[in-house]
Amino acid sequence: MSDCIFCRIVRGEIPSKKIYEDEEIFAFHDINPIAPVHFMIVPKVHVGSLMDVDPSHQKALGHILLKANELARGQGLNEGFRTIINTGRIGHQEVYHLHVHILGGPEPLGSMLKRRAP
Ligand code: AMP
Ligand code: ZN
Repeated sequence: MSDCIFCRIVRGEIPSKKIYEDEEIFAFHDINPIAPVHFMIVPKVHVGSLMDVDPSHQKALGHILLKANELARGQGLNEGFRTIINTGRIGHQEVYHLHVHILGGPEPLGSMLKRRAP
């Protein structure tokens, strides 16, 4: 059994502010939000990152993206939101259980990344 932090949240061993769960996926608020609404959707099965996926994960990953809009609307994000999947060292991934961030709020979020000076 994995002692990964998000696996433990999925199993209810670590408390979280749960938004939704079904047999395949689990959604909960980020503990350190960077937008007025910031939650994550994860597959219940442990998969480290997008660099580790294989065809066995296809259904859960599709399910996450299909649920994103409904769950975002449930949090009041009726005019759009941002989805982020940080992957690996370059992607600045901190927790190695694949997760999709959903971010939004009443105001537009601004550009995706700051442009570097040329
Ligand atoms: P990432 O950098 O994409 O790996 O994002 C990991 C996210 O997990 C960060 O935004 C953290 O604030 C969040 N996080 C870490 N531990 C917890 C926790 N126990 N409950 C909820 N969110 C968490
Ligand atoms: Zn895990």
